[in-house]
Amino acid sequence: VIEALTLHCPKCGHRYESTPDRWQCSCGGALSAPLTAGLRRDTVDRSEPSLWRYAAGLPAIARPPAAYFGEGRTPLVDRPWAGRTIGFKLDFLMPTGSFKDRGAALVVNALAGAGVGAIAEDSSGNAAASYAAYGAAAGIRCRVFVPDSASPAKIAQARAYGADIVAVPGDRAATAAAAMADRHGLYAGHNWHPLFIEGVKTIAFELWEQHEWAVPDVVIAPIGAGSGILGLDRGFRQLALSGAVSRAPRLYAAETQCWATISRASASPDAAESWLNGERQPSVAEGLMIAEPPRLLQVIRALKRSGGRPVAVSEPAILHALHALAEQGLLVEPSSAVAAAAASALVDTGEIVSGDRVVVVLTGSGLKTSSAMHRPAHASLTP
Ligand SMILES: [Zn+2]
Repeated sequence: VIEALTLHCPKCGHRYESTPDRWQCSCGGALSAPLTAGLRRDTVDRSEPSLWRYAAGLPAIARPPAAYFGEGRTPLVDRPWAGRTIGFKLDFLMPTGSFKDRGAALVVNALAGAGVGAIAEDSSGNAAASYAAYGAAAGIRCRVFVPDSASPAKIAQARAYGADIVAVPGDRAATAAAAMADRHGLYAGHNWHPLFIEGVKTIAFELWEQHEWAVPDVVIAPIGAGSGILGLDRGFRQLALSGAVSRAPRLYAAETQCWATISRASASPDAAESWLNGERQPSVAEGLMIAEPPRLLQVIRALKRSGGRPVAVSEPAILHALHALAEQGLLVEPSSAVAAAAASALVDTGEIVSGDRVVVVLTGSGLKTSSAMHRPAHASLTP
């Protein structure tokens, strides 16, 4: 028997018993699962070689999961960076090549356990591949709605896993609306589904275990819609709640100056609305170009609470970091290199001080975006 989960809306406070079709509050807000205190060092299932070893801190999912790849437990490696030693969390080594597999593992397995046979998702990038792969393994039909401008290379992976690809004319918002209105599958969009962040928070649990049951001082992750930062925030807060750690790291959200949604909205929350409707420039970090993050205010609150902030970096800095990582054997996508560029920026501003243990989460594989490597870093570094 799987215990019921009570979801709540941080915007209006309304509560709902979780059902497979409940992904949004009636007020339009994005729903969250409750924070629980079950995970401690002695409740980690050390016989389980995947993120499911932290089941004591996750919403209950039927075991064994319908879709299982042994996901999680990605390496943490130290490398010299910006004159210091920084820990790089290699989440691009997840089963489909991105951290989004953590969220898909929770969402798709929960829906499989509830008997759902078909789901709809909107994405043109990594989340499409994650849902498609987990759907394939769980026997769930997956329809992925993509903007008709999406590059075929980005959706080839999802199509290979057997997902139906539906191209939607118009912008990213039109794509989301089409997925939500889909009649063939239950909407399970990763930017909205409350269990997606529950899966992503296992990054925090792994960092805790990889630091001998302690936490680093600083964690930097790229930000698009915010599931990475919110997952880290929830994971570390949950560990603090259970008494497993006494403090949480400062969280920094790395974004591109071309699309600095979080930086601008943080500087003036009242201006968030006008910013969301404003003009933005395309970036090499295409995974971070999210028009309207449904959890924008939650992200701003999480960063502030942790003592960190959003960090916007330039396109030349992103390309420089992309190549510098590759020269150390770390081939990531430009959206991930943004976080490494932010680490350099924080060393420059003095916000990372000597003695700080810093972790940069590398979220997506460069094998999906190899064409980005054709852009020479050195040429674009010239102002
Ligand atoms: Zn609400």
